[in-house]
Amino acid sequence: MHFDHPNPWAPRQDLKVWLNGRLVPVAEAAINVFDHGLLYGDGVFEGLRAYGGRVFRLDRHLKRLEDGARAIRLDLPMTRAEFAAAIDETLQANRVVDGYIRLVVTRGVGYLGLTPTRTANPSVFIIADQIELYPRELYEKGLEVISASVMRNHPNALSPRIKSLNYLNNILAKIEAADAGVLEAIMYNHVGFVAECTGDNIFLVRDGTVQTPPIHAGVLEGITRNAAIELLRRRQVCVQEMDLTRSDLYVADECFLTGTAAEVIPVTKIDGRPIGDGRPGPLTVRLIRDFRELVNQEK
Ligand code: PMP
Repeated sequence: MHFDHPNPWAPRQDLKVWLNGRLVPVAEAAINVFDHGLLYGDGVFEGLRAYGGRVFRLDRHLKRLEDGARAIRLDLPMTRAEFAAAIDETLQANRVVDGYIRLVVTRGVGYLGLTPTRTANPSVFIIADQIELYPRELYEKGLEVISASVMRNHPNALSPRIKSLNYLNNILAKIEAADAGVLEAIMYNHVGFVAECTGDNIFLVRDGTVQTPPIHAGVLEGITRNAAIELLRRRQVCVQEMDLTRSDLYVADECFLTGTAAEVIPVTKIDGRPIGDGRPGPLTVRLIRDFRELVNQEK
């Protein structure tokens, strides 16, 4: 049995976690083994970002959390104002000014058995810390990605619109990426169209027009995705939400991903094929700049 390998990825020990109304040291921030979030992935979460002490588009994240909770028939135990205050408290307790926030709501502690009504109180916890998803130089060089063979969840199974605690679908694709020696994988939907990456939305540029899969292709409606669309349209760039195939990606002039942790990052190689001239394209480079300006303006 191997239960005592040293863990090089352990969180820093001075971290304080907000757990069900209290800030506790990370060593005490434990979830009950009968919590249905753990037993069944029954719950929802958000990944948010603080810039200059202010959470980027907090209301939209909380709205998405509310929608997801509603979709899985989970009554959130806190109001939007209470979530906002708890997030602030967690940021301050950890002296995080620029960083990442993870907000998790589980179905709560029950017993064995799927029945969600056999749980009393949802559990809520919030983690705030500094993170770096991708190395800095990849924002200049671009990311290499592969096509995953595992498809994105069918929208009528576990809808990708719900940011649920069950991320195994994406984790299976992430394993394929790791096996191929790259950091991200593109997931296709049940009819073979491009959906999204394991933790990011995807865009391509073709003849000056930007294209991205529509929400009904089975993707999470990313907060960063929507900000990118807004910024591009402000620059009079035509943005089309449309079904895309693998070969649309292969012949694109540019490709980029968006996400809270990644922000906007260029993709320069897909399945071993260079995209465009193999370097981040002008539209992507300008969008990265515009996005940084936007977060500075909104802080
Ligand atoms: N798709 C998936 C599957 C995600 O998990 C995420 C968030 N990490 C995104 C897209 C991007 O969404 P957002 O811009 O709101 O972070």
